[in-house]
Amino acid sequence: MHLADPRSNLWTHTAAPGPDCPALQGDHVADVAVIGGGYTGLSAALHLAMGGARVILLETGQPGFGASGRNNGQVIPVYSRHGPDDAVAAFGDERGERLNQMVAGSADLVFDLIRKHDIDCDAAQEGWLQPAHRPSRMRGIQAKHDQWAARGAPVEMYDAARAAELTGSPIYHGGWMHRAGGHIQPLGYARGLARAAQAAGAMVRGDSPVLSIDRDGGKWRLKVAGGNVRAEKVILATNGYTGNLFPNLRQTIIPLRSTHVATTALSDNVAKSVLPGNHGLSDTRQALWAFRKDRFGRIVTTSAPVFTTGARARMAASTLRRLNIAFPQIERPEIEYVWEGIIAMTYERLPRYHELAGGIMTALGYSGRGIALGTAVGRMMAERALGKPVNELPLPALPLKPWPMHDLVVPFSRTMAWYFKWRDSRD
Ligand SMILES: Cc1cc2nc3c(=O)[nH]c(=O)nc-3n(C[C@H](O)[C@H](O)[C@H](O)COP(=O)(O)OP(=O)(O)OC[C@H]3O[C@@H](n4cnc5c(N)ncnc54)[C@H](O)[C@@H]3O)c2cc1C
Repeated sequence: MHLADPRSNLWTHTAAPGPDCPALQGDHVADVAVIGGGYTGLSAALHLAMGGARVILLETGQPGFGASGRNNGQVIPVYSRHGPDDAVAAFGDERGERLNQMVAGSADLVFDLIRKHDIDCDAAQEGWLQPAHRPSRMRGIQAKHDQWAARGAPVEMYDAARAAELTGSPIYHGGWMHRAGGHIQPLGYARGLARAAQAAGAMVRGDSPVLSIDRDGGKWRLKVAGGNVRAEKVILATNGYTGNLFPNLRQTIIPLRSTHVATTALSDNVAKSVLPGNHGLSDTRQALWAFRKDRFGRIVTTSAPVFTTGARARMAASTLRRLNIAFPQIERPEIEYVWEGIIAMTYERLPRYHELAGGIMTALGYSGRGIALGTAVGRMMAERALGKPVNELPLPALPLKPWPMHDLVVPFSRTMAWYFKWRDSRD
């Protein structure tokens, strides 16, 4: 086990190597500068370069350093809390349905990009399962299923017996499946997007934290340690890792620290009995239980600690208890990797898009659904930077809405995990 090792992220040990992304040196000019090398920024850079723009992407670490290299890898083309009818209620018929279309097509976008750019990331579009951990949760699932089915999505309901077959777990009461979903090796996908963006003509620079953004004549000047980038437009794709580059932006989201745990590889027989169809699974708990297997037969699962001190050891222990309940056929599971990442949450659990100041745009707050959605929103911002009118975008450009007393709200929000667990235990 690599409990104390800060490099104990499973994905860094098993991803295909990334492209060469040296630090930025000297002064450069671009049409669009992208800050942040996760799925949002990389997808934006790729689509901008494919659209003929001169683009430079700057990343603090290497591509996939943030949440994009640390997540569960489940590609899920639905909202985390809402159904498509809620999007229509919130944004009106036209915009709401445009947003629904983007979300519905987002998993296909990911898997199409993987195929088109030959990205080595263990892509498995076998479907995504959301089983009900309580009988009462079947009502909500049925409603989401019906709303997406009415829009032509490849979804289906199943009962408790089928849930047991699909999940390999005896604890579920039925559920729904989205056939367009699946899973990927998340860091491999980020690295592959970076390689594809470079091949399309983008300059991708790692180890290049942007220190400031200033107006310089008619352009923006981004300062990094080794040089500067001058650009007409800027896409800020820093999401849960947002610092103080732009006033009040960090305060619009709750950065939720999530712990991830991977077991050792299971024996072939046992591995085949867990998620036998190689689906991804995120159940109906608010304090989510999510499971998927990696290429070697490890189970990868997630947990949100209330207190960060000692969290790795506690999360490893609670994962073993959880596995005993969910998959009792794994007789003595062992933990091999434990690591952390930051999920950007919004109050309404929908991403927010902002046009901050002449030519600076940002989107953040995918609330745990950013693999498919971040890729789609990155493409959306590329289209906007290439000239698409703002009223034709799937997301409205909203004013910034910072949380009052953000520094107090963030630690308090962690304690919500207790409340969610209590709610989850009630029918
Ligand atoms: C533990 C965990 C599990 C998750 N599981 C899933 C899942 O199964 N399915 C799903 O859909 N989503 C999941 N998510 C969410 C998903 O990972 C994110 O929504 C997605 O990766 C967001 O991508 P992004 O590009 O917007 O942000 P990020 O990948 O976080 O990228 C932001 C980048 O900005 C960089 N940056 C910040 N400031 C600067 C600066 N000043 N200069 C240069 N660079 C800067 C950071 O270094 C970082 O790399 C999970 C997240 C976590 C943490």
